[in-house]
Amino acid sequence: MSETRGRVTEMARAVTTGEVAPDHWLQEARSRIQADESADQPLHAFLSLGAEGAGEGALDGAVAGEGAPDGATAGVLTGALAGALAGVPVAVKDNLATLELPTTCASRILEGYRSPFEATVVRRLRAAGGLVAGKTNMDEFGMGSSTENSAFGVTRNPADRSRVPGGSSGGSAAAVAAGLVPCALGSDTGGSVRQPAALCGVVGIKPTYGRVSRYGLVAFASSLDQVGTFGTTVEDAALLLQVIAGHDPFDATSAQRPVEELAEAARAGRAGRAGLAGKVVGIPREYLSDALDPAVRARFDEAVEALQTGGAQVREVSLPHTRFAVPTYYILAPAEASSNLARYDGVRYGVRAPGARSTLELYQETRTRGFGPEVVRRIMLGTYALSAGYYEAYYGRAQKVRTLIARDFRRVFAARVGGTAPDGVDLLFTPTTPAPAFGLGERVTDPVSMYLSDIYTVTANLAGIPGLSLPIGRVDGLPVGGQILAPWWGEQAMVAAAAALEGVLEGVEA
Ligand code: GLN
Repeated sequence: MSETRGRVTEMARAVTTGEVAPDHWLQEARSRIQADESADQPLHAFLSLGAEGAGEGALDGAVAGEGAPDGATAGVLTGALAGALAGVPVAVKDNLATLELPTTCASRILEGYRSPFEATVVRRLRAAGGLVAGKTNMDEFGMGSSTENSAFGVTRNPADRSRVPGGSSGGSAAAVAAGLVPCALGSDTGGSVRQPAALCGVVGIKPTYGRVSRYGLVAFASSLDQVGTFGTTVEDAALLLQVIAGHDPFDATSAQRPVEELAEAARAGRAGRAGLAGKVVGIPREYLSDALDPAVRARFDEAVEALQTGGAQVREVSLPHTRFAVPTYYILAPAEASSNLARYDGVRYGVRAPGARSTLELYQETRTRGFGPEVVRRIMLGTYALSAGYYEAYYGRAQKVRTLIARDFRRVFAARVGGTAPDGVDLLFTPTTPAPAFGLGERVTDPVSMYLSDIYTVTANLAGIPGLSLPIGRVDGLPVGGQILAPWWGEQAMVAAAAALEGVLEGVEA
């Protein structure tokens, strides 16, 4: 489809060998983005562009693969990863702190805000030689499933510009799907990488909670948030994840786990050398409910056959607490958000309402003007769920159900991993969303229908397990995604299986 499909390694190699100038791909990306901006119905994937970042000095590190990291990230990118993204333009969701560009979270309350430090993931991608192509549009603070909740205008779906790209990382997904950039960073609190990846027809990965540093990721719901990656192929998304993953002393929830070879796992899977053969893949029956569009179901069934063609054994499993996932998520995420967003008071960050006569008035005016309707709704929901008298009934209960949902996964996976029970599975396969991309404006007045588009993705965040969405076909020209879920820290097996499935679906000889 696009010229940049699955080419990250090739692009970096061309820069490292001097075949093209260090800023070649960035300039190319910029002219595509600008051409799209003057199109009839622009995608509006970006909120700001990394023009300044292309200065001579900025590119020195790209070629050497040095990017000058120090402190927390010093020395993390050595060997194969140094230069892995040399000169490759990467789109970055606007809730990740960057020095050279504003970080707005698509909110009026942070309009024009510049962070005094850079997110660890951004530093790591620079250390690998990557260049920030720009900051992408999103639902305000990550709250939404369509990118329509941006204070700065909607993003359109490249497959059909009258439809949403999904959200909340809609700008990143659309930019990759349209071939404006080869890969991008997003964040996934309840599906915000996987869901727009599915609706735009690209690959999106949400890693295990703790795999990637959240330092410099503006907090939405801290116990659920993870930075994730987009690419046009499993290999590209996996490579970017490998670059950004790893322990960071600046994030107390980042894990001390070694980062595995992910790009290589994807290549092996794609070449049919590993991935699906001998694997047991579970299909959770609760994910194939009435909510699922029959046309999406048809693509899903074909993908299940493709899993078997690739050598996997497929088995139905049950995750009985699945039906509680959306209500549980929509208690916990707003509760955490209401607490995290208390910091936007007109004093510490961003915009301040003028003319306030008291501190209270300053808070009220700033927050009333600064937050959009969905953010206000979440703060109200979260504050209510946490208030005295209701805390046990809502927040306390939701925490208990969260444990049950995680236990469902532990049961189906642990049996296999521990090797004791015969009915365990290595991986799970589900649809990513119940339906393809919906029309712009179709669900904005009905928040519950919007929340339900996350029905298959929030479970992974509640449990903390990794998930990946990849294209499995189209319905009336609109992309459909399939989701692979893996046990905690099982990214390598997940990526290998996804790449193998991608190969079978594209008819690549195994
Ligand atoms: N759509 C979900 C929400 O609105 C998830 C968003 C996300 O993953 N950031 O909360």
